[in-house]
Amino acid sequence: ENFYQQTTAAPATSFDVSLRPPAFSEFIGQEKVKERILLMLEAAKQRGDVLDHVLLSGPPGLGKTTLANLIARAAGTQLHTTSGPQIEKAGDLAGILTNIQKGDILFIDEIHRLHPAIEEYLYPAMEDFRLDIIIDSGPSARSIQINLPKFTLVGATTRSGMLTAPLRSRFGLANRLDYYTHEELADIIERSAGLLDVPTERAGALEIASRSRGTPRVANALLRWVRDFAQVRGKGHIDGKIADAALAMIEIDSQGLDEMDKRLLEVLIYKFNGGPVGLNSLAVAVGEDAATIEEVHEPFLIMQGYLMRTPRGRTAMPAAYAKIGAPAPPSRPD
Ligand code: ADP
Repeated sequence: ENFYQQTTAAPATSFDVSLRPPAFSEFIGQEKVKERILLMLEAAKQRGDVLDHVLLSGPPGLGKTTLANLIARAAGTQLHTTSGPQIEKAGDLAGILTNIQKGDILFIDEIHRLHPAIEEYLYPAMEDFRLDIIIDSGPSARSIQINLPKFTLVGATTRSGMLTAPLRSRFGLANRLDYYTHEELADIIERSAGLLDVPTERAGALEIASRSRGTPRVANALLRWVRDFAQVRGKGHIDGKIADAALAMIEIDSQGLDEMDKRLLEVLIYKFNGGPVGLNSLAVAVGEDAATIEEVHEPFLIMQGYLMRTPRGRTAMPAAYAKIGAPAPPSRPD
């Protein structure tokens, strides 16, 4: 129903996987992050050591999972993938960690959603490569120690602010992924179009790029739709006009805002007088999950200058009034 939700909140599809860059050289943008990771890899290699733990944060679909895969490839080791909510008991973590070989990469997606008790087990595992497991309970409870091979934890989070300080401090390097520029997204779209064998003009790639909310996963999903459109309504190749017509048909506007983004702005302005209003009231009013608003919609609306997060709640910026065609806001005493 909501295009972006389908594409950003859903797990990776085989389509996503088929377009995932297989080498750092094909991973477009995020130059600083890439440079730092490559440097760490090089240093570890020179010392014959295992790579330090890496934290990747940023909105969904910006390439965190892709980077974890690339790190494992570059290190020449195995990638083991799990996520915070998937690890329910200490035994689950022990099961994963005792299956790991020296130098392997353990990728924990949504690491901010790890159960606090599991986090406690993770600290000595990250620091000293040791698991202290309590077996039995009551008077016969005792702790056994399991030594682990040296491994690299790559943690991904959409909410770096929700990470506890002790967990954060155990990562050697914390990287924040930013939204991509239109040019970078157009490069990604051209690369994907090449893999999909769809002739695409730069103007077409840029048209899709400018409506992809800075997000490669969205860019690829939109490309997929435009490809279908071009095949049925056009001659199979993508130019600016075809891309524009295709995206108009699924009601993606020229800045990439979707229906939920616009509804958020409308509700904020018409129902809550432009705010400030708390996230939960806003979520109830638009009928969307608060976490989805906070992780998917808000960061983009803030980046685009439509919305501001203040200590008292969310506030509409002047651009939001213009966007939905509402009269300009009254000036405020604050
Ligand atoms: P995240 O883990 O942050 O949600 P992913 O790593 O799953 O995001 O990326 C989503 C998709 O976008 C990938 O399948 C890949 O095809 C594409 N992608 C992400 N980042 C890049 C990039 N820098 N260059 C090319 N493609 C990318």
